[in-house]
Amino acid sequence: MKIEFRKVPQTPKELQFDYNSVKIEGTFCKISQSLTKVEANLSGITDIDCCRCGKTDNITLDENLEFLICDGIFKGNETDDLVIEIENGVIDFDEIIESELQSIKSDYYLCEECSQENNLFEQEF
Ligand SMILES: [Zn+2]
Repeated sequence: MKIEFRKVPQTPKELQFDYNSVKIEGTFCKISQSLTKVEANLSGITDIDCCRCGKTDNITLDENLEFLICDGIFKGNETDDLVIEIENGVIDFDEIIESELQSIKSDYYLCEECSQENNLFEQEF
């Protein structure tokens, strides 16, 4: 799903689309000339590799996302919010969700077997 930055309304607009097996639901609205605020929930299933044995598992997602999209280079004050800068005036939600999923997948993850082994290991010492 793509939308031109200049077409983003100032009142919260419903955001709802699917990306592969993930469902994105939330709202977005323009909060200043160059900033759009997005609040969304990611739910669904994604695959993730175990950090120890490399086995691919499916995990159920339930992630709340909140971030700002800046039209161009972000020149605002320091903020705790995640700011995503876009270059060509077009917000590509698929790309944003893809990179968010990549960051979830790169988190440390152990499959059930490995995490059980891990617990045993920790109990022994
Ligand atoms: Zn494993």
